[in-house]
Amino acid sequence: MQWKYMLGVDIGTTSTKAVLFTKKGEFVKKVSKGYPLYSPTPSVAEQDPDAIFRAVMLAIGEVMIESGIEKEELGFISFSSAMHSVIAVDENGVPLTKSITWADNRSVKYADQLKKSPRGQQVYQRTGTPIHPMSPLAKLMWLKEEHTHVFAKTAKFLGIKEYIFYKLFNEYVMDYSLASATGMFNIEKLTWDEEALEIAGVQADRLPKLVPTTYMFKELNEDMASKLNISPNTPFVIGASDGVLSNLGLNAIKPGVLAVTIGTSGAIRTVSDRPITDPKGRTFCYALTENHWVVGGPVNNGGITFQWARDQFGQLEIQKAKAGGEDPYELLTAMAEQIAPGADGLIFHPYMAGERAPLWNAEARGSFFGLALHHTRAHFVRAVLEGVMYNLYSVMLALQELVGEPKKIHASGGFVRSKLWRQIMADVFNQEVMIPESYESSSLGAAVLGLYALGEVESLEVVEQMVGSTNKLEPIEENVKVYEELMGIFLSVSRKLEDDYHRIAKYQRKHLDE
Ligand code: ADP
Repeated sequence: MQWKYMLGVDIGTTSTKAVLFTKKGEFVKKVSKGYPLYSPTPSVAEQDPDAIFRAVMLAIGEVMIESGIEKEELGFISFSSAMHSVIAVDENGVPLTKSITWADNRSVKYADQLKKSPRGQQVYQRTGTPIHPMSPLAKLMWLKEEHTHVFAKTAKFLGIKEYIFYKLFNEYVMDYSLASATGMFNIEKLTWDEEALEIAGVQADRLPKLVPTTYMFKELNEDMASKLNISPNTPFVIGASDGVLSNLGLNAIKPGVLAVTIGTSGAIRTVSDRPITDPKGRTFCYALTENHWVVGGPVNNGGITFQWARDQFGQLEIQKAKAGGEDPYELLTAMAEQIAPGADGLIFHPYMAGERAPLWNAEARGSFFGLALHHTRAHFVRAVLEGVMYNLYSVMLALQELVGEPKKIHASGGFVRSKLWRQIMADVFNQEVMIPESYESSSLGAAVLGLYALGEVESLEVVEQMVGSTNKLEPIEENVKVYEELMGIFLSVSRKLEDDYHRIAKYQRKHLDE
């Protein structure tokens, strides 16, 4: 039987999504299975690897049943996964730790020490992963010093996707993409970086075997296959990380196209045909394939700041929305729309959760600047939407030094639901913004990479025919001028506050711990 469908599975931080597409990339069905993130203290962010394994099994099994397709109609399954997780397992593959996620900050001391040393800078240049507590390199340094027993007993250090594949196929393998986000993978040589391993205190035999993102597993055992409602012959493509696959799923893989995502956090990324790092260490460089390198910056403060503004300034709208069956975000956005671009000179620095790119300062904090008696509640809301965008633009300025000016933007994430916020993006960036129709860009990206791995298509560019484009926005010239003027102030204020960020964060820590 000729196969007709492909399955992209995205193992995210809140849920795993199994998304079924036709061979042509048309969305058919999605099943999503959630799991908790354990955060008993602010610096801990862990998950149960077996709960995630169960979610992956259930999501695949259910999407097969619910879609009603025949087992033989499924061509392959291809995977996307969140980056930077670490799971220590013993010689029998039994976890000795939970899955320590990207959001876990316990290795901050080790990341800071390494970052300040010239050695740290060199490691970043060779590995493309900014030195930060998110990075598995820093997590291993921390485990070695503070959990000596666990560290000594560990046979392999895996990430969540490697753990899932170990459970499915009994092999310890890691794709170049996830490896390139560990801080220990040499992006020029495509091998583990010896010096980074020395810093982490491990040898290559305690890490998975490295394979290209097109690597395939075949012949799943009968029992697993029957649990998944698939044929044992269905190929499994290892795939890549969610970040790089999102670029692919958004059709942002050509030079000059910038993918900008604003969900809870945010990111801006573009693709180059070779690895590129930043002399100032502000950007990451992660592999999609050996010829596609995704360069960009992640920000902590995306939609989470609008969520905060909704909860703190929007109680009225929350109540109104409840009564009228509306969305409080929409009521708040309508309120912000009444205020002129630039919020009459109220500027918001969104650094409420500390910041990764472009500051890479976990102690950065938010601020409203320019506050005057004419400012209202609505100004605050508008300033929040604008501040998130100024910050992403500042990441773009860093990226632009490395890859040149972008020609257009492909946008995604929860923020696209707001017409006003989308327009602010076009105006702040002074670029055309396209919102591709594609469902679940990382899962679609995984599916397209799978097609390529199977030799069904000659290049990844086939994605172009798979993403519709619902929305295209042009910048409005007078708004562009306003934002240009305010952008200068935004940048200068956050630069001036650098020392004070540390002072206020220290105060907050002391005060909150009391
Ligand atoms: P996640 O990154 O967790 O997957 P989403 O991509 O759904 O989340 O983005 C969630 C964010 O999107 C929220 O924090 C909020 O800022 C924003 N958002 C959600 N709905 C709207 C809306 N109607 N208008 C504007 N922003 C919205």
